[in-house]
Amino acid sequence: MRATAREVGPELLRRRSLLGAAGAFAAATAAGCATPTAASGPFDEADLAHARELRERGLADRTALRLVRELCTGIGARPAGSPADAKAHAWAVAALSSLGLENVRAESLPLRIWQRGPAAARLTAPVPRPLVMAALGNSVATPEGGLEAEIAWYPDLAALRADATERDESRVDRARGRIVFIDQRTERSRDGSGYGHAVPARVNGAVEAARRGAVALAIRSIGTSGASATSATSGTSGTSGTSGPPIAHTGGMRYDLSVPRIPAFAVSVPDADFIATEHAAGRTLRLHLDLQARTGVEATTANVIAEWRGTDLAHEIVLISAHLDTWDVGQGAEDDGAGVAIVSAAAGLIAAAGRRARRTIRLVLFANEENGFDGALAYGNRYREVPHQLVAESDFGAGRLYAVRSRVAQAALPVVDAIAQLLAPLAIAHPEATRNQGNPGPDAGVLMRRHRWPAIALAQDGSRYFDVHHTAHDTLDNLDTSALPQNVAAWAATAWLAAQSPLPFGPPAL
Ligand SMILES: [Zn+2]
Repeated sequence: MRATAREVGPELLRRRSLLGAAGAFAAATAAGCATPTAASGPFDEADLAHARELRERGLADRTALRLVRELCTGIGARPAGSPADAKAHAWAVAALSSLGLENVRAESLPLRIWQRGPAAARLTAPVPRPLVMAALGNSVATPEGGLEAEIAWYPDLAALRADATERDESRVDRARGRIVFIDQRTERSRDGSGYGHAVPARVNGAVEAARRGAVALAIRSIGTSGASATSATSGTSGTSGTSGPPIAHTGGMRYDLSVPRIPAFAVSVPDADFIATEHAAGRTLRLHLDLQARTGVEATTANVIAEWRGTDLAHEIVLISAHLDTWDVGQGAEDDGAGVAIVSAAAGLIAAAGRRARRTIRLVLFANEENGFDGALAYGNRYREVPHQLVAESDFGAGRLYAVRSRVAQAALPVVDAIAQLLAPLAIAHPEATRNQGNPGPDAGVLMRRHRWPAIALAQDGSRYFDVHHTAHDTLDNLDTSALPQNVAAWAATAWLAAQSPLPFGPPAL
């Protein structure tokens, strides 16, 4: 539930009296900002009119569609440190310059990358069956000629972890010398919580399996492709967003120096269903895996940055972002070509409208979000002393925005309320119970937590997002682009108002 204008007024007055003469409003007034009134909230009418203008122009803007097309069809998959990644930096610098943004640059950073090689997996018992599979990012290779072992089946990561505390020696030994299979299912959900619940199986599964003596890790794909299984378990009707052949979802995983590094891969949902059925029937499953990959390859990538300079508080940064890198499959249309297009178009719209806000609006297209957050970490190290009014990121495809949440100081909540009111005509809610518990996206989240920078999260409908996420199906023709203008409208208005705010947003209550 959103606060009404009538509720915001007295609340604002109360906060102002708490702040006193030395409070932030007084400072803002001294800095030349028009005195806010209880009737209008923290922004004066000219500010709100400009934000409404940005919102309306955003709804009519087709720049995001052009940008995501250029990026996906002109470059396609662009894993960090690859030649395509370098092409994407050059494209982004040119595109952002042509949108009228300032200080456009690519800030290089070194990194070590993982490179996929040929890989194949097949069941050898109880029946021969080739599997649709994908190596997980960071996976080591199998020995020359591959490896074969019996499958130790677990319904989920929790069941594998439970083996550690099990007193029964035979259960402890269940994984030893075997290929651990984790059948963790990803439930379809609007807010991505199904993925959040399932993804630790991918990220931590190899470490947990190696701790128990396994020689490899296999998982059910962390994704919602393969409608028959996922819609049956999620309780939602309807079909998968993508038809076509079964597909496996890749994604990042980690190792722990205390245990051996074992190869790790995902199989398609239909293959996982087959394995589960055979296991339930009491049959012994054996699997042969041949996985080639290179790890720790030295490479270079870059964060691409562009700005719209502020006025009296230009040294303070309102950071809006997306990530330019992708996995090495598909075209990176939803992850995160759409986000790149949305925030770039929004920044371009702000520049085209011409009016400057008090703070600098900085657009960052982060490097290597997918496999190590090198871009976000390098950015944080480089700009740690620079005050950040806001960090925010668009990294959930092109889905329609349905909610705005923040992570700001209590005193700044009336400003967020005013922003939320401006977004309300876009059918974006401001849920009362979670209004200051926003999660601003992966890179922005890293920066928020490491540097205690305030954040705003614009939540997109991700019901279909995990159908193609991290697969060869993440292509432009599978992207529903109908909500791009709504996203651009909201991002432009939000960024400009955050930059114009009479109040600092931080430090956030984390
Ligand atoms: Zn992403």
